[in-house]
Amino acid sequence: MKMPRLMLHYLQHLPAELLPLVEQVADLATDLRWTWSHAGDALWKMMDPQLWEQSENPFVVLQNLSHERLEELNRSTQFKQQLDRLTEARNNYCECCGWFGDVHAEAKLKGIAYFSMEFGLGEALPLYAGGLGVLAGDYLKAASDLAVPVTAIGLLYQEGYFRQVLDGNGWQQEIYPYNDSSTLPLRPVLTHNGTWLSIPIELPGRTVRLHVWEAQVGRVSLYLLDSNNPLNSALDRGITSKLYGGGEEIRLVQEIVLGIGGWRLIEALGLAIDICHLNEGHAAFVTLERARCFREKRQVDFWEALWATRPGNIFTTHTPVAAGFDTFPRELLAKYGLIYAKDLGVAPDELVALGRRNGHDDNESFNMAYLAARTCGMMNGVSRLHGKVSQGIFQDLYPHWPECEVPVSYVTNGVHVPSWDSPWADEIWTHSCGKDRWLGTAETLAAEINKLDDATLWTLCGQERADLVRHARQRLRLQLGQGGAETEIINQADRILDPNVLTLGFARRFTAYKRPNLLLHDVERLIRLLSHPERPVQLVVAGKAHPADHEGKHFIQQWAQFAAQPVIRNHVVFLEDYDIALAQELVQGVDVWINTPRRPWEASGTSGMKILVNGGLNLSELDGWWAEAYTPEVGWAIGDGKEHSEPGWDGVEAEQLYHLLEEEIVPMFYDRDARGIPRAWVARMRASMARLAPQFSSNRMAREYVEKLYLPAAMTFQQRTAQGSVVAKELRLWDERLRRNWHQVHWGNLTVSAEKEGWVFEVQIYLGEILPESVQIQLYAEPAGEGVPVCEAMQRDASIPGALNGYLYRSHLRTMRPHTDFTPRCVAYHADACIPIENNLIQWWSGTATLSRNSP
Ligand SMILES: *Cc1c(COP(=O)(O)O)cnc(C)c1O
Repeated sequence: MKMPRLMLHYLQHLPAELLPLVEQVADLATDLRWTWSHAGDALWKMMDPQLWEQSENPFVVLQNLSHERLEELNRSTQFKQQLDRLTEARNNYCECCGWFGDVHAEAKLKGIAYFSMEFGLGEALPLYAGGLGVLAGDYLKAASDLAVPVTAIGLLYQEGYFRQVLDGNGWQQEIYPYNDSSTLPLRPVLTHNGTWLSIPIELPGRTVRLHVWEAQVGRVSLYLLDSNNPLNSALDRGITSKLYGGGEEIRLVQEIVLGIGGWRLIEALGLAIDICHLNEGHAAFVTLERARCFREKRQVDFWEALWATRPGNIFTTHTPVAAGFDTFPRELLAKYGLIYAKDLGVAPDELVALGRRNGHDDNESFNMAYLAARTCGMMNGVSRLHGKVSQGIFQDLYPHWPECEVPVSYVTNGVHVPSWDSPWADEIWTHSCGKDRWLGTAETLAAEINKLDDATLWTLCGQERADLVRHARQRLRLQLGQGGAETEIINQADRILDPNVLTLGFARRFTAYKRPNLLLHDVERLIRLLSHPERPVQLVVAGKAHPADHEGKHFIQQWAQFAAQPVIRNHVVFLEDYDIALAQELVQGVDVWINTPRRPWEASGTSGMKILVNGGLNLSELDGWWAEAYTPEVGWAIGDGKEHSEPGWDGVEAEQLYHLLEEEIVPMFYDRDARGIPRAWVARMRASMARLAPQFSSNRMAREYVEKLYLPAAMTFQQRTAQGSVVAKELRLWDERLRRNWHQVHWGNLTVSAEKEGWVFEVQIYLGEILPESVQIQLYAEPAGEGVPVCEAMQRDASIPGALNGYLYRSHLRTMRPHTDFTPRCVAYHADACIPIENNLIQWWSGTATLSRNSP
């Protein structure tokens, strides 16, 4: 039995007969599956109702139980039976082959390593700042549910991200509680000798030794690297102290630890990994370390190793603007990159060039996203719109390629539904769709939810809203108390909000592009809306600003001051310290979730997806996921689906927001039938739950990653590395030869002649020392309207006499479009290479085509 560290102390004085019980409970309480599977809640409550209510964390409950209480539990047959049942259920969950085992039993996919700077699995393990981390957490939970063979790698932060309190002026204060690893649901990873596994990383002048912890997320293991090892210097112990704290240099070192340390950990554990999935560019160094290890094992050079391993690397970008990428100045990279370049067997300049658009430009800083793009075989954005936006952002790396061919696809994000549903929603969904509804393909769920009757749905809504009101009051009491308010004011917290009033929610990071003050555009109008005598509205607001974001803090202050006005005090509340626990309360209880990002800055957004299962409705900008989810039957939209930079546009959208609320949303909510049910509202709830909840679940997202990305990537990777990696060797030589000789490519004449229903194109090209098999000559036309581009391979015909690799290429094209829409181009070609992500060479024909008159 691998015991958590604290348990060792705890066990020293434990009477021996209690040991098996404690071990059994600890085993369940350290598996974070309890954060979404509530099967154990009754058991945890039985251990100590008060501790359970306070912490909602079984591991904390266990660590606070007295020996007397343990003895009582040990004597209770009821407790022990329930414990056995839970253990058995968990074993069954972990051992069944799951969706992946059922559907992809034959797949040659051994393992996926998922790298992320943050993981938001729950407040029991607070290693996240916001959306990126919550997404990673939800992804791991879905991978566990579907039995996808994922291993996750991250960092253990001693302080994690800051916690928020507001001072008397509504100004954000940051506090950093200490993550005491001995009380977290973690186990130290030991070597077979019983010592703590330690991963070495060479930094200038010293070797840092990283400890390794393991968190259990159902079937998935999350390994966390930790520099807080007494064998390291005081400075180095601090490398993993804060998430997104510290300066540029710490950040670079953290990314070195995550990427290079992460791959070394995989090697040390002997895991079989085909796919490295990079959740954002932070972990991009893993691709280099993977290639370095390959190089060492196979005795090849770095470039061949990269050609061999690259198809096994997948990069998910989450950034909607180029300025959002992590970049490091040349000096920093020189400081840390020199030793490493030597390990890789490349010149320092070659290493630096991998992170630049123009490798030789010494003014360019080192861009982690560029490194990822150059060393991964696939790239994807996180919504349909963001996929497109990313094609624009990465176009610099594919000079002269049309934007629509920039190799960034998309997999729209999703949320782990069982982690966000309310107990009430869980009951209804279980009744309609069964307990295992999120363990398979979720295909039949929509039909079942569509059968739910109005009264059931409307009751659900009321129960959830009442819970939110209760939680908000409790939180406000705590907040006021901590802020030093007088007793009378604290007691007023019990009168805020009304469980029967339309409840709007707005919670997210407070930063300019999210426009958290759009609702405050016309304060008087908002007050009228909220305090309407017959059709009142209430609003719950939450969110943190990055510690350095002064403007964001101003937005928070604006809200705090707005909420403090006596006229609307009972209608608006700002709840401090937005985290997963608060998010759960909000998404379960709101009727309408408002999101107002400035398009196209919201790569996906996930908070609006969390309300779907609970019957909440979205009112959101047509950006991120909502741009592909919205139809009038399932919610409301602001914006016109276009980007705007003109001043005054925010005012236009604020007007839309108020108008929708005043004219549609509020009246629809209060328009009740004879039984008191708002029929039109409930119809929307049903449509949103049925259509959107399965589609925007992490269940769908994880299946899509497996089927669209992992399986094909694993096949290519295995093919590259088979039989002494002959294919990788060949590709590397092919690539070098093309690059060396590309300047020799030039065009001759282009002749076009009309034929029945189309055109004949004939073009001459001189390839010099490039073999014709190494390239493809294509006819390309931009998409007509919304479609896809036309790209047709031309046929090689005669050689041009006297020329080295000079040829005539011909193509008969059936088309109604004018011949001037089509341009010949020459691109690299190899049946085993991914173009253009692995080779971006392209040359377009330019000049004036000769229109031949001898048409038929
Ligand atoms: C879901 C979630 C987010 C991300 O939500 P957005 O829609 O991207 O704003 C951020 N923080 C917490 C605590 C969350 O639960």
